[in-house]
Amino acid sequence: MLTTNYIELEEEYGAHNYDPLDVVLERGEGVWVYDTEGKRYLDCLSAYSALNQGHCHPKILNATVEQAWKLTLTSRAFRNTQLPQLYEDLHRLTGFDMALPMNSGTEAVETAIKAARKWGAVVKGIPENHAEIIVCSNNFHGRTIAVVSFSSEEQYRQDFGPFMPGFKTIPFGDSAALRAAITTNTCAFLVEPIQGEAGILIPPAGFLAECAAICRENNVLLMCDEIQSGLGRTGKMFAFEHEGIRPDVVTIGKALSGGFYPVSAVLASRDVLGLFQPGDHGSTFGGNPLACAIARAALSVIVEERLAERSAELGPFFLAEIEKIKSPMIRGVRGRGLWIALELNEPARPYCVALMKEGILCKETHGNIIRLAPPLTITHDEILWAVERIRRVVGTADIR
Ligand code: PLP
Repeated sequence: MLTTNYIELEEEYGAHNYDPLDVVLERGEGVWVYDTEGKRYLDCLSAYSALNQGHCHPKILNATVEQAWKLTLTSRAFRNTQLPQLYEDLHRLTGFDMALPMNSGTEAVETAIKAARKWGAVVKGIPENHAEIIVCSNNFHGRTIAVVSFSSEEQYRQDFGPFMPGFKTIPFGDSAALRAAITTNTCAFLVEPIQGEAGILIPPAGFLAECAAICRENNVLLMCDEIQSGLGRTGKMFAFEHEGIRPDVVTIGKALSGGFYPVSAVLASRDVLGLFQPGDHGSTFGGNPLACAIARAALSVIVEERLAERSAELGPFFLAEIEKIKSPMIRGVRGRGLWIALELNEPARPYCVALMKEGILCKETHGNIIRLAPPLTITHDEILWAVERIRRVVGTADIR
């Protein structure tokens, strides 16, 4: 089939809830992907940080195939050999007492919300149906009805009401607003340590630490959504570590499978996750042996290949190289680890198309921001290769 045929089929029979670049990918290896005509591209999006380990990592691939030959799904009606081992790996790696496995990131967030409400009712004594969760403006936690109920993005909510009550929004980065918003019915504060979808927005230094203290003083759970920022992306295993804090609840997903399968989880203390009783919550696929074997391999790659450390080493180098590009089109550059936002003075989409022609895949976010988030396995030379092309497109070329 020709490239145009794939695009036509997708446009004809698929819902148009995405606006992909017109590149049809067929194969991937490490930081590289190949289209149907064999052209090679450097992946600078990593499926929104799900591919921190790179495409088709051999160790995760082997774990997938080995487990797929043995057993893929038991449902949680029965036990399997992989789930307890994933629990143990997560506990050893993160220090959290317990985990609750799900599939998509959004489901992990939904699960965290349920856990917080349950804790609010059972432990804090919040009257039934009165629990409040505080969130931040510009948040992105997924697309289900409960989650878009507290989105501040007009399009995410337009025509999808009625919405879920029980959420209050404060400005991202404003800890005084958090203090002011807390009531006796507040069970949790849900926050991305760095807002990815909003354009890699880094809050003022000290914000998370102040929030952690405010939550502790007021008996409110601090819940960090690390679905995009976690598992090495920012140069630490978790982005909250940059502020030396320890949240009560953490959601992870994306790179938890290295891109092989949807795997997510909620991590928390026994005081919180220990409250779930049989029948309170579940998922047919959550915690299945294939997902768990994949997640175990994906986590071991992050550790063995020192991906967080690589991100800490190579991120500042990449950022400094991007900062050297002088162009009236650039409004600003920021980043943490291998997670860089290049904010332009005009719509970023044509630049992403031009970068694609140069062999770099990235995607605009919020109109004028280009997010650069390559697999954490990227090398120094590959970064220089990318910078040369980014300079060509953003620095000089007339792309219109
Ligand atoms: N939370 C954050 C911070 C995210 O970045 C995302 C996805 O981009 C999600 C939740 C939703 O994850 P998923 O698309 O796997 O449902």
